[in-house]
Amino acid sequence: MSDVLALARPEIRALSPYSHAAWQPGLVRLHANENPWRDESDSSASGLNRYPEPQPAELLARIASLYGVSPAQVLVGRGSDEGIDLLVRAFCAAGRDRVLVCPPTFGMYRVAAAIQGAGIVEVPLDRSRGFAIDAGAIAAALGPGLKIVFLCSPNNPTGNLQDPGALERVLEACADRALVVVDEAYAEFSPGASVVPWLSRHPHLVILRTLSKAYGLAGARLGAVLAAPEVVDLLRRMIPPYALTVPTIEAALAALDPAGLARCQGRVDALIEERRRLAAALAAMPLVERVWPSDANFLLVECADAGRLLEAGVRGGLLVRDLRRQPGLERCLRISVGTPDENSRLIAALETA
Ligand SMILES: *Cc1c(COP(=O)(O)O)cnc(C)c1O
Repeated sequence: MSDVLALARPEIRALSPYSHAAWQPGLVRLHANENPWRDESDSSASGLNRYPEPQPAELLARIASLYGVSPAQVLVGRGSDEGIDLLVRAFCAAGRDRVLVCPPTFGMYRVAAAIQGAGIVEVPLDRSRGFAIDAGAIAAALGPGLKIVFLCSPNNPTGNLQDPGALERVLEACADRALVVVDEAYAEFSPGASVVPWLSRHPHLVILRTLSKAYGLAGARLGAVLAAPEVVDLLRRMIPPYALTVPTIEAALAALDPAGLARCQGRVDALIEERRRLAAALAAMPLVERVWPSDANFLLVECADAGRLLEAGVRGGLLVRDLRRQPGLERCLRISVGTPDENSRLIAALETA
């Protein structure tokens, strides 16, 4: 078994975590300096006067079965954003270590690295191959101090899944050298493509999942880091003990019960159908040069005049994402797939551009 923790910062490996009040729900809690009374406005099931259970066992079990891993392979936190931040802080020493990113991609990897004082190495996606990763160039960029390779599949903002063969080549090149973090925030919109089943073969593989997109809980802030138990254990020692609030835990458990999962699948199916309709309508517009294929819940749209389309959207009361300042995307907008009614309104508004 490889020693993936050898890549982590020694002081984090040696960290003894904050010792929180014992979680023994059968006993009256007179050990945590909580208030014994609930406020009348408190509509939660378990009471906002009490601290939440750290890394709640029932939620971990539910998330583990959702993704097909064991609870020891799951860390839950405040969105994928918290997972990204914890990983960078655990593995990158300020002023010395680096992360690798493949632009154009999600901006949080870079921000988390900059906050930690880690360096950033860029290996751009290959636009001529549909924004594919360049596995050879990633392997060539590895070196001492390069601790984390961030990959996003399907990628935000280009919408494409990465080829499993290329992901496998990156994993092989990084074995015993760097952590490979695959951000699967949009995996539910491209069924069957997740690399979660690879976790058992690759101790240096880390996968980010979130309830913010397909599960419709962006406001609850709940994401999961899926990784080898020793990596999860390291992150558990760093995360604030009460990171997840009582309302978030209760909302997630409700959304992930069998009826909630069926409702979620219905919404995903509807979004995939609307993605197809919206892409076809956009592709027919004279100001649209190209609608890139999407495996996610948004479309990357290359425009003859992105500014005119943006303005037409705002006149119609609709906001889309302006990507023109991102290198390689100077003519691009990113459009989230909305409800059928919102998409129809957007199509009508853009046709006036
Ligand atoms: C939206 C998104 C996330 C989700 O972040 P949360 O903090 O879980 O809301 C993660 N990664 C990518 C690439 C995203 O686009």
